This record gives sequence, C-alpha cells and structure tokens, in this order.
Amino acid sequence: MISEQQREKMIAKQLVNRGIKDEKVLESFRQVPRQEFVQDEDNDYAYADGPLPIGHGQTISQPYIVALMTEALEIKKTDRVMEIGTGSGYQTAILANLAGQVYSVEKVSALAKAADKKLKNLGYENVQVKVGDGTKGWKKNAPYDAIMVTAASPQVPPSLLEQLSPQGRMVIPVGDRYFQKLMLLVKTLDGEMKTINLGDCRFVPLLGEEGWDS
Ligand code: SAH
Repeated sequence: MISEQQREKMIAKQLVNRGIKDEKVLESFRQVPRQEFVQDEDNDYAYADGPLPIGHGQTISQPYIVALMTEALEIKKTDRVMEIGTGSGYQTAILANLAGQVYSVEKVSALAKAADKKLKNLGYENVQVKVGDGTKGWKKNAPYDAIMVTAASPQVPPSLLEQLSPQGRMVIPVGDRYFQKLMLLVKTLDGEMKTINLGDCRFVPLLGEEGWDS
C-alpha cells in the first residue's frame, strides 16, 4: 500500500513533471514494484530520485532515465527488444510490459541470475536473460525493433547496429567513462541513420569487445 503511493508520487513528480508523456510508459511504471529490484537495505529509498547500488559495482538507474530511454524507443506490443546491461532487471520489467519479447544480456553472471529469478517470480514470461558480452549483441534472436543499452560506450558497437532491424530504434549513452550523451538512433527506410541527442547522462561503463577494455 505504502509502496503504491510512493510509486504514484514518483510517477507524478519525477516523470510527468519532467515531461514524460507516453501513457503506456507511465502505466508500465505503475505496474513494476521497484522495491523488489533494490537491495534490502535500500527498501526505504526504492522510489527516490536517483540511482542506487545493486552490488558488483553496478547501479539500478534513476527512474527518470529509465522512463526517458523507454519513451524514446516508442515500443509496440509486437516489438522484439534487446537490452544490454540487465543489472537489477527493473528496466527489463518496464520494457517487458510494453514489448512482445525482451532479450537482455548481462555481463555479471550473479546479476543476470538474480534478475532472471525476480522477473520469473513476478510472472514475466516474455523475457530471456543471457550472461555474456552485450557489445556483441545476441545474434540468435536478431533483428530487433528496438535496442536499449544501459551502460556507457565509447562508440556505438557495430554488432548492435547490424542487429537492428530496418526502421529500428536504439538508445545508447556514448561518451567517455564519466560523461556521456544519451543518443537515440533511428534507422530510416532508405538505410540511413538519424541521430538525436537526448541530453547529458552518466552511466557505468560498458565493458567488452566493442565497448571499453575491462
Ligand atoms: N538497466 C539496469 C542498469 C544496470 S547498470 C538497471 O537499471 O538495473 C549497467 C549494467 O551493464 C551492469 O549490470 C553491468 O554489469 C552491465 N554491463 C556492463 N558491460 C556489459 C556488457 N559488455 N554486456 C552486458 N552487460 C554489461
């Protein structure tokens, strides 16, 4: 009960007030209990306006950033979505409410396992989580209508571009290890790529063959 009120307050203050408009995205936030995805000791801060540690030096992203990235992808119920950086699995759940299928790749095996278990317990049946280097994508299920990268990369990994369908959309933080620009890439029908800058952000590094060296 308390968490439901906190969630509504978070949606109004942190998301709607900052310009998140897509009703389907807001509804997805209503459905996901963020307190299940933070560490037990952070339960009281589950709806706070910022990232939180999830162990292994990683973080669950700030709710507003999750919303901004999700809204930018304009996900439809028939879409196949790939997420790179499962982390807590919170963003995965937000995507799974909107998409047909979500394929999520996480480098840290313990995080992938914990997220997979949580998502299953919450009843998500349209999610698959894999341990691996997400800079290479997940070729088996390609192409994807939308790709979301939730760790910072020095470049757009070529493998991810290859696995994006014609007219596909990708959001990815690109920059140095400490500051990045959140980029929205849209493939157009004639095979061109349109790039839109969604603003400044700060993510943990994407470590892998087509990202940063570990
Ligand atoms: N969306 C997550 C964000 C987690 S932080 C959430 O809100 O909980 C980013 C995650 O990316 C971390 O869990 C980190 O381990 C993972 N990561 C970093 N490099 C990766 C790579 N090459 N492939 C897959 N995951 C990676």
